[in-house]
Amino acid sequence: MSELLKITDLHVEYDTSEETVYAVNGVDLTVGRKETLGLVGETGAGKTTTALSVLRLLPHKIGRISKGSIIYDGEDLLAIKEKVFKKYRGKRISMIFQDPMTSLNPVIPIGKQVAEVIKLHNPDMTKAQIESRVDEMLEMVGIKANRKKDYPNQFSGGMKQRVVIAIALACEPELLIADEPTTALDVTVQAQVLAMMTDLKERLGTSMILITHDLGVVAETCDKVAVMYAGEIVESGTVEDIFGKGNHHPYTIGLFGSLPDLKDDKPRLSPIEGLMPDPTDLPKGCKFHPRCPHCSEKCRTEQPEVMVTNGHSLRCHLFSKEV
Ligand code: SF4
Repeated sequence: MSELLKITDLHVEYDTSEETVYAVNGVDLTVGRKETLGLVGETGAGKTTTALSVLRLLPHKIGRISKGSIIYDGEDLLAIKEKVFKKYRGKRISMIFQDPMTSLNPVIPIGKQVAEVIKLHNPDMTKAQIESRVDEMLEMVGIKANRKKDYPNQFSGGMKQRVVIAIALACEPELLIADEPTTALDVTVQAQVLAMMTDLKERLGTSMILITHDLGVVAETCDKVAVMYAGEIVESGTVEDIFGKGNHHPYTIGLFGSLPDLKDDKPRLSPIEGLMPDPTDLPKGCKFHPRCPHCSEKCRTEQPEVMVTNGHSLRCHLFSKEV
């Protein structure tokens, strides 16, 4: 699988008048063509900030990439002029946001909202061609084309998210970033929307970064997984590596321990004690050490290096060479 996106040593900071938030702290990620990467971790781990960095949508004057590179299809995304980059956003790289209720404009019919993105990236298309593409996209996501004049409030949450997906896929992007695309939906609708996204992705040959905290969704949808904590990737590998019986980062073990298991008759779950550290004042050494049951003196003072074995990476002293 050849590489489409390669993020190296990405650091992102948010500056406020009083302090600096260290949101992403040296992330390395790759996404191959037609591949789906699951980015998992608790709220505040830096998943969305990583995605927004790829699309260069960090909040103006507050968020900045302080270090690192993002190479997309051989091009340095951070070096491209904004005017040129606008042609990437929505056309080559698209994003689905978490809440369909706020992604759509409530006073514009849904068909017009799908047409907008098609028109923007295909200035040579005639009105009839755009209309036919709108119909095709709506039908593709399971909405009858004759409903294109309806407004977002005439649709359920799941149907609205289908419209958002139609907009994101209208220009057949090579990379789709889906940020918790089903979190705001009912469980049964979640399954339908996910199945539809996977099907469309296969049909259009799109690569995907799926941001989620739902490990069940990752197991069903992804080829590779990266587990994020306090702005770092602490473990990454194939789905088999992460869900298999081999070595795991204590944080990954904690994430799995927080899930109910129907086959296990344990009376209680084993949640990860404590909270994600304050990103303005990150702990020294391993950022997970205040919550880790295996914490040693070395963990408190020394940042662990990433160890990679057959593509499975772990950032933990337990697996460093000296141990
Ligand atoms: Fe735990 Fe130490 Fe590994 Fe960090 S480096 S996860 S504190 S064992």
